[in-house]
Amino acid sequence: MSVCIFCKIVDKMIPASIVHESETCVGFKDINPVAPHHVLFIPKKHIESVDKMSESDSALVGKIIFEMTEYARANNFSNGGYRIVNNTGADAGQTVFHIHFHLLAGRKMEWPPG
Ligand code: AMP
Ligand code: ZN
Repeated sequence: MSVCIFCKIVDKMIPASIVHESETCVGFKDINPVAPHHVLFIPKKHIESVDKMSESDSALVGKIIFEMTEYARANNFSNGGYRIVNNTGADAGQTVFHIHFHLLAGRKMEWPPG
């Protein structure tokens, strides 16, 4: 049985506020939001990080990004803009080792990130 918390969300073994689901991807609200809208999009397939992707995973990851943009448009984030973030590895702040992309919207973002 998987010990990965995001695999457990995919398998509906632990609760999450799921806002999007497709054949390949799940989107759910971040438990500790840092913006008015903060949703995590993950592949249903367990891949530790983008650094551990194989070439055969590239279409899957591209599809996730596309689904994020569809979600952003459907929720009217496009006018003000939104940010897609991926943290890869501990130094970048990755704390859950299952690929996830943060979708942040609803406030003015700062640059550069810390
Ligand atoms: P990162 O630091 O880039 O690895 O992001 C991990 C994110 O997962 C953090 O923003 C956490 O708040 C979020 N998170 C951790 N556990 C859960 C959970 N059970 N449900 C929703 N979000 C979670
Ligand atoms: Zn996983």
